[in-house]
Amino acid sequence: MTDEEQHMAHLQRRVSILSREKLVISNQYVDTLTRLSRLRRLLDRWQAVATQMYNHNQSMMSKLTTYKDRAQHWRVLCRTNAALSDVRERTLCVYKKRLQEVNLCSICLTTPIDCLLSPCHHGKFCCECILQLMVQEDPRCPLCRTAIQESQKYFI
Ligand SMILES: [Zn+2]
Ligand SMILES: [Zn+2]
Repeated sequence: MTDEEQHMAHLQRRVSILSREKLVISNQYVDTLTRLSRLRRLLDRWQAVATQMYNHNQSMMSKLTTYKDRAQHWRVLCRTNAALSDVRERTLCVYKKRLQEVNLCSICLTTPIDCLLSPCHHGKFCCECILQLMVQEDPRCPLCRTAIQESQKYFI
């Protein structure tokens, strides 16, 4: 194996580790915020591999002199790059989806959160849901059951 092949094999191993890890994170039951920060870290690591690959490519290209060698190098590079992009795209997709879930009202799960309750200061609801709650007798915070005195719209 040449140096380049070894290096590419190493990068490909890292890509497959990242893919496996992404699968584990998606399947595991962990709360959304934990999952989000783990996905964020995974994306950062993807970035690290991509940077490493870019640097490797720069140094390889300066060493390769013949057209044949350069073409061969590009083929390996494109394959690895495609695998990397795939992992990143899919991870980003899951990340964005989870991010949206975090910002959705915990009552209706469809509207973005924009309502802060007083005096308990819980704010994971939308104003529409809280308005519906406020017309009921003895309205209480769905999270802590504190009697609601006031609700306020807020902007994220
Ligand atoms: Zn709602
Ligand atoms: Zn509360």
